[in-house]
Amino acid sequence: ITVSALRETAAGERRMAITPEVAKKLRGKGLRVLLERGAGNAAGFPDAGYADVEFADAAQVLAQADLLACVLPPDDAVLGRLREGSIVVGQLRPHGAAERIATLAQHKLTTFSLEMLPRTTRAQAMDVLSSQAAVAGYRAMLIAAESSPKFFPMLTTAAGTIRPSRVLVIGAGVAGLQAIATARRLGAQIEGYDVRPETREQVESLGAKFLDLGVSAAGSGGYARELTAEERAAQQHALAEHLKVFDAVVTTAAVPGRAAPKIISTAMVEGMKPAALIVDLAADSGGNCELTRPGERVDHGGVVILGPLNLASGAPLHASEMYARNIYNFVELLIRDGALQPDFNDELVAKSCVTRHGEVLFKA
Ligand code: NAD
Repeated sequence: ITVSALRETAAGERRMAITPEVAKKLRGKGLRVLLERGAGNAAGFPDAGYADVEFADAAQVLAQADLLACVLPPDDAVLGRLREGSIVVGQLRPHGAAERIATLAQHKLTTFSLEMLPRTTRAQAMDVLSSQAAVAGYRAMLIAAESSPKFFPMLTTAAGTIRPSRVLVIGAGVAGLQAIATARRLGAQIEGYDVRPETREQVESLGAKFLDLGVSAAGSGGYARELTAEERAAQQHALAEHLKVFDAVVTTAAVPGRAAPKIISTAMVEGMKPAALIVDLAADSGGNCELTRPGERVDHGGVVILGPLNLASGAPLHASEMYARNIYNFVELLIRDGALQPDFNDELVAKSCVTRHGEVLFKA
């Protein structure tokens, strides 16, 4: 069995789906590892660091791969060069991507998108959403600290005392909790907010204060549900008052398969402190602030709104290490009796499958 990965081609993408550590583990399972030359360079993994791995150009890799691991969805041209029946494992972003799914099916591929794994205990070791969200949350808070005109920590100096920044994290999921932990390490005075009631304890356990806006919207599978119009109005009304005191706000709110909820309106931004800052981690899926422009910096009357994209790629070495381990744990599941034989009775296999030998199993 040949397991492969190519250099990621999406603009700005530096992560790599197979690291030296994971290549070694795959070899230990008796698999052949064939990678595109230089594919790990941008992540900090030069070819020389891979032991007992073969390298070739992309065309040769694709002609021989039984399983292609990827970080982001491969181009149509790449998919077209894989052999019929080959397996693709990665983040295939199938929501709202009918054309991409059609291409996967057309080439008779069996494809698994790890974002669709159920959030169960068994799936945790393969959970790419969690591993990459942790990186994104950390990076978002560092960007907030670096872009703020203020210090995050309290400073007592001969030139007087500097008060710590007040920082709010909206959305206390995996990314939000990591952002909170990072702000704590930087010495900010930090508060967290979420619509899932169980997050209160998680926020408080990190030494942050929980901001209670009186709106509770726990959905299924550990996720939030979309707010009703009334709940949204109540949330906005309460939040508008609170936002006035913060120096920096990091937003991470998401609802699976939907555009990010718009939580911060233009009027709310206009009520914020001068020189306050918003880092919108949800920019990739439309943003939590009405004024966010994905990938851009917006200055709205002195309040700056940043919408950084693909934050996880900004710490590519550790992001890749975690991602590749997720991939390995999933690939292990696909191998039975020494062959690639996904067991479709296993819910992890069935629920993450987008196409099975060309048949579309993904349901939006
Ligand atoms: P996510 O990326 O889907 O959403 C981020 C956060 O935004 C969530 O905490 C959500 O509650 C919050 N949110 C959504 N709408 C909001 C709104 N209108 N206002 C404020 N906040 C809003 O979530 P995630 O981080 O991927 O996961 C959420 C939770 O799922 C985790 O914190 C964890 O408890 C659970 N989880 C379980 C497993 C597992 O058991 N395998 C793995 C990962 C996550």
